[in-house]
Amino acid sequence: MKKNDRYNYVRVPRSDDEGNRTYDVKGFRLPSVTTILARTKDQGFLKKWIEKKGKTEAERIKNHSSKRGTAMHKFIEAHILGKGYEDLTPIGNEARPMAKKIIENSLLPIDEYYGSEVTLYYPGLYAGTTDLVCRHNDMDTIVDFKQANQPKRKEWIDDYYMQIAAYAMAHDYVHGSKIQQGIIMVCTPDLYLQEFRFQGVELRQWKHKFLKRLSAYYELIRDYKKETSSKLWKVNFGDDVGLPNICDRDCPGCYDDFSLYDLTGSPPDKRNELFKRLGKNWFPGDWKFKPQWKDAIKKHFKNSGKNKLFFFTGRGDPLFYMPCIEAYMKTYKDLNYEGYASVSTSASLLTEERLKSLVKWGINEINFNLVATDFSQATLNKMKMAKRKLNVAVELPLLDVYEKPLLKHLSFLNSIGLEHLTLSTTRIFSKAGARKLMRVIPKNTELTKLSPQQAIIKNKPMVDRITKEIKKRKYNIKVIINE
Ligand code: SF4
Repeated sequence: MKKNDRYNYVRVPRSDDEGNRTYDVKGFRLPSVTTILARTKDQGFLKKWIEKKGKTEAERIKNHSSKRGTAMHKFIEAHILGKGYEDLTPIGNEARPMAKKIIENSLLPIDEYYGSEVTLYYPGLYAGTTDLVCRHNDMDTIVDFKQANQPKRKEWIDDYYMQIAAYAMAHDYVHGSKIQQGIIMVCTPDLYLQEFRFQGVELRQWKHKFLKRLSAYYELIRDYKKETSSKLWKVNFGDDVGLPNICDRDCPGCYDDFSLYDLTGSPPDKRNELFKRLGKNWFPGDWKFKPQWKDAIKKHFKNSGKNKLFFFTGRGDPLFYMPCIEAYMKTYKDLNYEGYASVSTSASLLTEERLKSLVKWGINEINFNLVATDFSQATLNKMKMAKRKLNVAVELPLLDVYEKPLLKHLSFLNSIGLEHLTLSTTRIFSKAGARKLMRVIPKNTELTKLSPQQAIIKNKPMVDRITKEIKKRKYNIKVIINE
């Protein structure tokens, strides 16, 4: 099969987060076509199938099929590219004859190809990777290879049609082409080969059907965002409770300039000084919870559902503000709110006694900032202690310097049953904050100025490396990206 270089395809970074695949196209995170179709699919049939097979068996079949599909794709891709490829594993042995069947039959009418495993995107809307773009029977064609346990009926595979139609639209838009045909090539393990070809009006109809699913997807995402943002009530200590920020740590990504928002400003960071002067029992005895804070909470949760999230964090460590946590938890209770409460902390002040209080007030989770104490053994021991009473989670800034220690402790984090691992982009709100960060970031770190008030360091490659490692080690750690 000859290669034709008519179209110039670019490589686009992609990432997988809990089954949601996205592509990073020129600064836009676009959902993959398969994610869009999966999220908007009627799950009824799938649910029934899982009920019939049982969860474990259904999962086993799904994993096996997916591995066999990947192996089959690799054989076909290597053939198209004219590369040698072998896979002698049991999966490879199953997939090889299936690939051979497709190669020796379905690929024959293809004289040349434009690209194999090509990333396509429709700017601002969606992206995806198609198996093959080629000239088939004198028609520009998008091909998708599928494996199946049983032969397929046309009415079962609407999503396959829509997938190709979506790629055809993206290809035409970006490359100015006129894709004329779509072909789905399906092979079963007992080598039953099927081809579903579609062109002209039918191709146009599938494009329309995909566009409907696309708008349903964006509707869904909008609703989801609305729902989740209205569920979270976040308290920043000390700003939100009229108290100074105080902390005994000095994390490079954290500076006492939360309210400054001026990238030319260099305010002094007084948190440590305050701690040294006043000690850990610094809390002013006359502090009172203000009635207007309760009103603000009520207003915020008006019309919200049951699952509320209460989050304690700040530029001062929340454990310096125990009376405030107690007052807030009491307020939620007075309002008859049910929800999930999490405290973010370095845990330097966490003791058995404080832990008992947090549990008594209804805190569900401690979110450990392991960076603050350099992943010290003392903090890891506190995680174990906390885990006996409530959930534990970890939050980490996306700075390369912390990747190594995180990976070193990944197995520990997995073993204690982490609720989630939050990887956070680093925001900078002042010149002084940026200067402090320089202690730990290499000079060439990409710092994006968002406005005259703030800048950000994103680190997508680090996210990809960490999620890949978690997957590779088959750890059960849920990763959340905090942008
Ligand atoms: S422990 Fe928290 S509040 Fe204190 S310096 Fe570190 S990130 Fe900031």
